[in-house]
Amino acid sequence: MAPNDNLTAVLYGIEDLRLENKDIPSIKDDEVLLEMDCVGICGSDIHYLVHGRIGDFVVKDKMIIGHEASGIVQKLGKDVKNLKVGDRVAIEPGVSCRLCEFCKTGRYNLCPDMKFCATPPYDGNLRRYYAHAADFCFKLPDHVTMEEGALLEPLSVGVHACRKANVQLGDSVLILGAGPIGLVSLICAKEMGASKVIITDLLQSRLDVAKELGADYTYVIPKDVTEDELVKKIHETLGNAPNKSIDCSGAEATNRLGLQATACGGCFVIVGCGPPEVKLPLVAAMAREIDIRGVFRYANDYSAALALVSSGKANVKRLITHHFDLTETLDAFDTSRYGKGGAIKVMIHCQPRNKNN
Ligand code: NAD
Ligand code: ZN
Repeated sequence: MAPNDNLTAVLYGIEDLRLENKDIPSIKDDEVLLEMDCVGICGSDIHYLVHGRIGDFVVKDKMIIGHEASGIVQKLGKDVKNLKVGDRVAIEPGVSCRLCEFCKTGRYNLCPDMKFCATPPYDGNLRRYYAHAADFCFKLPDHVTMEEGALLEPLSVGVHACRKANVQLGDSVLILGAGPIGLVSLICAKEMGASKVIITDLLQSRLDVAKELGADYTYVIPKDVTEDELVKKIHETLGNAPNKSIDCSGAEATNRLGLQATACGGCFVIVGCGPPEVKLPLVAAMAREIDIRGVFRYANDYSAALALVSSGKANVKRLITHHFDLTETLDAFDTSRYGKGGAIKVMIHCQPRNKNN
């Protein structure tokens, strides 16, 4: 039996995350009520806990945390046609207006009226029961687990990044950062046909996982090495300069390195969020005709992410290092935040564990 409380993880402010019982939400005609199952912790959740803001998104009022999630449909709004009670779904956490120019042209991630889970002022879904727009729920085939369903969220970022980079057959790709986002970008780059992928990080343990997930080369960035030496090392290792580079770290150092290492005429995609302003060798990049592209979440990428997982090509489960029950949310956040036990992806289970498959 599922518990009938609605235990909910509420961020009251900086360093103030609490579990409390809330009413089970009512649903609108186009929504479904979901019995939440798995919710992964993302770096942005930690960032809101520690800093109370990401750029212009500021936690001014208390906010329910969580957005990498899957659940089971419990109730249907009267207009819902695409789902039925009992369906296991991945939840695409951003619900756009569907009416504006961006929505209509398929770039709904840029919708000015986006309501994105756990991006203030909108509540997230780390709770037992949650209402969500039915058209932003993706039914999972029986063999795809609820954990994998939750991981479609970061995987969709990887799909979007590699689509933005236009990764193709034969490409050489540099990925900077081997956290969850770097690792999913690696998976997608290989599946989209990259012949050679090199991935860098400061942590060998993360690169070991990258190797398991198909990285051709891994490289721990040593201390006290110049940028020019790093560029040379990357080119030597690949045997050429990467024609696509994807920054999944966000550090100024990786922004610069990615830009400098990319081959003439290549593409540099920025996914990692670092300081609001950084110093970059832009003129050199201009003279080498580097295309610099931004990635903001994803749009129309969930289906591809699901296809990758359901076909067995994306071993996203390898990212999960720790499991916690919803009641242990504070411990889960500590583990993720401090990288305890080599944490990569920490998964929270909102229902008794035997239902998670
Ligand atoms: P993470 O912090 O787990 O991973 C970042 C990795 O970069 C870490 O493993 C770290 O060791 C590594 N790193 C730091 N400095 C480095 C350096 N100089 N060289 C090489 N590696 C270095 O975070 P994550 O969850 O994987 O997310 C990665 C970034 O992407 C974060 O900045 C996050 O905010 C951002 N993000 C952006 C979007 C988007 O839509 N643009 C979506 C999700 C996450
Ligand atoms: Zn819109």
